[in-house]
Amino acid sequence: MFCPNCKAEYREGFTKCADCEIELVDKLPEEDNTDYEIDPDIIFVEILRTGNLVDLAFIKSILDSKGINYFIKGEIMQNIRPVDPAILMVEQSEAEKAIKLLKNVKLTYSQFSFKK
Ligand SMILES: [Zn+2]
Repeated sequence: MFCPNCKAEYREGFTKCADCEIELVDKLPEEDNTDYEIDPDIIFVEILRTGNLVDLAFIKSILDSKGINYFIKGEIMQNIRPVDPAILMVEQSEAEKAIKLLKNVKLTYSQFSFKK
């Protein structure tokens, strides 16, 4: 038995995680190094990092307008000074398109992550 939250293993007979107080499961879902919910069939790649809200809003509007499948990892809370940059993840098959689009705009504080 496993806790789906903290991944602790329990012996038979236990039904709840002592730490998380949630129901144990027989099997943990496949390990996939992600701590966010995404469609497991879609591979996302990191495109860039930004600690700038204006850039981020701009990036989102561009990707939205082109219908590119993306999400922001560690999204910056509004009005809070970011500690860690937000990471733009784009569906792998659309990554190149997204990079091209974003390279054409001036992103003052953003850093592209891909190597080319
Ligand atoms: Zn637990």
